[in-house]
Order: sequence, then C-alpha cells, then structure tokens
Amino acid sequence: MKIDELCSEVFELAKQLGPDGLAHGAQGNISACDRESGLVAVTPSAIPYRVMKPDDIVVTDMFGKVIKGKWTPTTEIKMHTIFFRERLDVNAVVHTHAPYASVFAITNEQIPPVLTEAASCLTGPVPLAPYRAPGSAELAQIVLETIGSGVAVLLAHHGLLTVGQSLAEAYDSTLAAENTARLVIWARSMGSKEITLDPEIQTEVRQSYITYYHPVANE
Ligand SMILES: [Zn+2]
Repeated sequence: MKIDELCSEVFELAKQLGPDGLAHGAQGNISACDRESGLVAVTPSAIPYRVMKPDDIVVTDMFGKVIKGKWTPTTEIKMHTIFFRERLDVNAVVHTHAPYASVFAITNEQIPPVLTEAASCLTGPVPLAPYRAPGSAELAQIVLETIGSGVAVLLAHHGLLTVGQSLAEAYDSTLAAENTARLVIWARSMGSKEITLDPEIQTEVRQSYITYYHPVANE
C-alpha cells in the first residue's frame, strides 16, 4: 500500500478515537508502515484530533526521522518504530489512554480473557509492562519485550498499546481490550468475580476468527 493511502487511513482512525471513547485532546497515537518503501505514516505530536487535518499526518523512516510533513511526529515515535523494525508481522500500532483498560494499568493487573471477543482479537490475557518514562527508548523496549508475540499490552500508569498486520486489526484489538476491561470492571462492581475463558476454547475461537471472519459475498 502506498504511503499516501496509509496517511489517509491513519487520519481517519485518529478522528475515530474520540467518538469511540478511546482518547480526548491529543492523547494517544497511531501509525502504519509501508513495508515496500520502509516509510511510516504517524500522527503528529500535540495536535488535538478535533482539529487534525489529513496533511497533519507525518511520514518518517523506520527510525522516526521525518521524511515528509510540517509537524514533528508523536513523542512516542520510538514505541511505534521499534515494532516495524523488530516484528515483521506488525504493520500498524495503536496507542491510547483508553479509560477502562487503563484502570488495569493502575491496579497492576492483566486484562483477563473473559470474552470470545478477547479470544478472537487479543490472543489471551493482556500483559502489563512495568512503568518507564513516556516517550523514552526504555519504554519502547519494555513494551516490545512484554508483548512478546502477542498483539496487546498495558503500559503501567499510562495506557494501552495494540499492534496488527493492518490498522483495522490493531484497532479491533484496542476495542476488544477496552470492551473486555469495561465488562470485567462492571462484573466486579456487582460483587462478582469474572471467569476466564478456558485456554482450549480461547485457541479454538482465535483459530476460527482467523480462518472464517471476513466478508463473504452472496453467491
Ligand atoms: Zn500515552
């Protein structure tokens, strides 16, 4: 996919963060990598989503060096580009301060896999990366290490990060993590204890999602 198309996709998703309850102001950041050219489309630093325009999206190389654009990229650029260099299966990164998921980031807990949605889009519990300073190379490194081969990770006292082969995949994982966190909090507010999905069922659901969940045209 050409980098201009990726810039448009990053912009459209960034505008969706507010309506989906995932961010306010300029919090969070989104990026996507065009493997062919080695270029990265990424949200700019400190521009609120409500006033963001398509040409505010920045193009960098895989080390965060600006190639095109009038703004500096997100201050979390290191946490994005490290995935494009180190995980060849990852072409998109979504970082938010999603409020329900972030509750787990302040109680030092994983988000448990309690929904089929979580099994489909998250591949298991969402682990928690220890605190490191926002924007630092140390944060990028610990996030990469903690997520392993998974698709979602909590950042202690900070927020959530998801990755995917595409922006749509990474964004679906963010929505799944936030929805799972919300329902677990609601279950606990009823005085109940959530029940984790059996690992075998998680694997089955994930496999079925990968194999069958895509649009199918009528015959
Ligand atoms: Zn952040």
